[in-house]
Amino acid sequence: MMALADLPLRDELRGQSPYGAPQIDVAVKLNTNENPFAPADAVVQSITERVVAAAGSLNRYPDRNAEELRRSLAQYVRELTGSPIERSQIWPANGSNEVLQQLLQAFGGPGRRALAFEPSYSMHRLISRGTSTEYVAVSRPSGFALSPELVMSAITEHAPDVLFICSPNNPTGDVATAEVIEAAYAACAGMVVVDEAYGEFSGSPSAIELLPGRERLVIVRTLSKALELAGARLGYVVAAPSVVDALQLVRLPYHLSAMTQAVGLAALEHRQSLLQWVDELKTQRDRIAAALAELEYVVYPSEANFVLFGGVADESQLWRSLLDASVLVRDVGISGHLRVTAGTAQETSTFIDAISAITREPAA
Ligand code: PMP
Repeated sequence: MMALADLPLRDELRGQSPYGAPQIDVAVKLNTNENPFAPADAVVQSITERVVAAAGSLNRYPDRNAEELRRSLAQYVRELTGSPIERSQIWPANGSNEVLQQLLQAFGGPGRRALAFEPSYSMHRLISRGTSTEYVAVSRPSGFALSPELVMSAITEHAPDVLFICSPNNPTGDVATAEVIEAAYAACAGMVVVDEAYGEFSGSPSAIELLPGRERLVIVRTLSKALELAGARLGYVVAAPSVVDALQLVRLPYHLSAMTQAVGLAALEHRQSLLQWVDELKTQRDRIAAALAELEYVVYPSEANFVLFGGVADESQLWRSLLDASVLVRDVGISGHLRVTAGTAQETSTFIDAISAITREPAA
């Protein structure tokens, strides 16, 4: 049998490993920034009814342009931000990862360059690679928050076709201010993509408010986090209608299955119910931050549903010790740091108790 190395694989994929956090069966999963609360019974009921209705027409292709779902997403965004967003400004796909891929297919590619500020969401780098887009990373300053000056000088130096700003940033939790995004947009001739996967957890205004008059600004959002639907695979773009036209040039026909559209429509009818845990998760996030500070770790202020902390002597060892205590957190590849997702009150207590015991344990 042929091994992977024997296949005529593209050069840039040789020696690479697939992306993904370990999926380990453990009691307390705080490693992938999911919502620990399952959709309420009424939501499950509505999803079931919509899916049953859709199942009866599965011999037909789904609505290629997902019109009804886009209308519903536009209404959600209007309610959330107060911005007058229309259906024509929304484009959904299978998770915001697919949205990001479509953006790079349309605006990146061979001979084009993407720029991001690391540490940040590593799929920006990987999707760039997968679409043969050159990827340049500029380091964030200590404390990780971006300034207009840093962003503008990086843009001037690298002249990106696609600029990624993740806000709140995964894994650091900081938010890019409106000044940073305005400065980036003014300096950049390419597309400015603001990844707001964790937007609902942030008290800061969404970059969606900056859309009027900015045709190259793109906001990427998802139903995977605050809206409890990571398993449904549904993310979307909010942008000018011309950007949606561009994405339609690269999307696969019928990319969003009738099932996914049905799930999204049913869930959005219950958007208030799905959002009900956001405040509770912010409370748990703040509990984690306070407990870690008490243990004298370096804690970065977060507007997302996770906390990055540093001052860890050996992050692999701490990760393993927490796993031994049935708590799975994320080693994000930053030396001396780990990231932990806010869980239920009980899960959060389990994490705090475990890390307190490990940290206070006298060295053997
Ligand atoms: N953007 C960021 C910043 C993320 O952290 C994630 C998921 N971890 C995604 C996008 C992708 O999420 P999804 O494909 O589930 O929408």
